[in-house]
Amino acid sequence: MKKHKKNIQQILILGGGTAGWMAAAALVNNPLFAAIKICLVESANIGTIGVGEGSTPHLKRFMDKLGICEADWMEKCHASYKTGIDFINWNGDGQQYFHPFYFQLDVKPAEVFFVNANARRRGQGDAVQPDDFFSSGVLAKHNLSPRPQRELPFTNEYGYHFDATQLANYLKEYACKRGVLHIIGDVISVSQHNNHDINSLTLASGQRLDADFFIDASGFNAQLMHKNLNVPFQSFAEALLNDSAVTVPVDLNSTPDALFAKYHTRATALGAGWLWQIPLAHRIGNGYVYSSRHICAQTATKTLLHHLNLSESTPVRHLKMRVGVSEKAWHNNVLAIGLAQSFIEPLEATSIMVTQFTLERFMALFERYQLNKQAETLSRQTLNQSVMQLVLGVKDYIQAHYVTSKRSDSNYWQDARNVVISLRLKQLLQAWHRGEDFDFQLYKYDQQLAYFRPSWYSLLAGMDFRDPQLKLPFKPISAEITAQAKSYCAAIVNHYFGPYNTTQNT
Ligand SMILES: Cc1cc2nc3c(=O)[nH]c(=O)nc-3n(C[C@H](O)[C@H](O)[C@H](O)COP(=O)(O)OP(=O)(O)OC[C@H]3O[C@@H](n4cnc5c(N)ncnc54)[C@H](O)[C@@H]3O)c2cc1C
Repeated sequence: MKKHKKNIQQILILGGGTAGWMAAAALVNNPLFAAIKICLVESANIGTIGVGEGSTPHLKRFMDKLGICEADWMEKCHASYKTGIDFINWNGDGQQYFHPFYFQLDVKPAEVFFVNANARRRGQGDAVQPDDFFSSGVLAKHNLSPRPQRELPFTNEYGYHFDATQLANYLKEYACKRGVLHIIGDVISVSQHNNHDINSLTLASGQRLDADFFIDASGFNAQLMHKNLNVPFQSFAEALLNDSAVTVPVDLNSTPDALFAKYHTRATALGAGWLWQIPLAHRIGNGYVYSSRHICAQTATKTLLHHLNLSESTPVRHLKMRVGVSEKAWHNNVLAIGLAQSFIEPLEATSIMVTQFTLERFMALFERYQLNKQAETLSRQTLNQSVMQLVLGVKDYIQAHYVTSKRSDSNYWQDARNVVISLRLKQLLQAWHRGEDFDFQLYKYDQQLAYFRPSWYSLLAGMDFRDPQLKLPFKPISAEITAQAKSYCAAIVNHYFGPYNTTQNT
């Protein structure tokens, strides 16, 4: 490789939340950064968001790459396994459906589900739920862990639930042990070069921190990207109504059995948003994500506590959410990650996944970035495009939960259906609703979508989204084969993850 134009010797990470410590751990573990001094500065006064308790399956790959032993971090972070998300009452009819993580062996039963879902939306056959056609759905139904009881001849996907503060602490210890310098202080001023690259951060103590490259992980504050580099923030307020959350943890022992799901997240639709219930090893994290344009904080609190059978005097925590995306994730010599870069409400627990993706892209482009001016610009463009694509892909999928809902029992749900959606989402939903070729639309947008076929089908069939007047010729799979597909999933789960009583599965 040619001599580097840039010679990056120091990287400074601003922010010690999950995002900041993920960056510190990932960089210090990467041989490309071995000669670079990595520092992380965080404020003792501002604090971290402290939520973000659910992950997608990608987190496993992140931890594996760091060489972190699953049993070790899970124990220290009070983590539990996650098979997927149960969506409860999203049509206001008390029904629920499961959004599963996908196993390799689900391919055949999933195909039966897809055909039946395609028949149903064309007015043929009964409503079809994804739950029994995916191993994760069966696991969730029987409260079984996605960790197998015997060696698996196939890959299984699972996520985690965890204590967000402990996860950041765990990664902090990992990073500091490997040489990351940890500094406590409030950044009160920032100096820039003539080309607007950031040069140094000054702390309230007067200490000046110089670096060649900066990672903005300062949370909703977006100190460097937004406040100093003035990169515009694209708000999603017109697309997603929820902008607030009220949270309360409950002890595992004080939770009535009926509310207890051990290995999956529950997302229950409420009057002006939805409630998350995330089972950790020692407690359940609960939070009502709502629209402050539709209800006030007091009403949200009351609803949350009432739903959980908790006394009105139970202390809760209120959070404001800055929902949207920085128009660039990488600008000048600053990379924004975590909440400083983007946040789409927590419905599918995707924020940490976006952080991971951004870091992985950055590390893959870093060497090239230093080559010359052209490579520098190209690297930034490449990263910015791919991060934006992922964020917009997630946004489409999240929005689909609201715009397909039949609920109309509050202003919120009426408004939630009438938000601004992308042309891509419009075409996907139209194709499904009109009984057209939905798979063609998925194929057309394949490179741009954050979610794949099983997720889209689970959502749209789970919501029974369709035109009830429509009657098009399309044959569902026979009842016998459908039953066989379900039994196949049940047998896999029973054999590798069970045993459980298979007669319960029908
Ligand atoms: C209600 C809610 C629910 C969520 N649920 C999920 C979920 O289930 N799954 C998921 O993946 N994500 C979830 N998220 C997102 C998740 O919480 C974040 O992605 C994750 O915690 C990373 O946050 P962060 O590190 O970017 O910011 P923060 O945790 O806010 O950390 C910001 C850091 O910057 C520092 N800082 C800021 N300004 C300064 C300054 N001037 N000087 C010095 N230090 C400064 C602070 O001290 C702090 O250390 C949720 C978010 C919300 C709001």
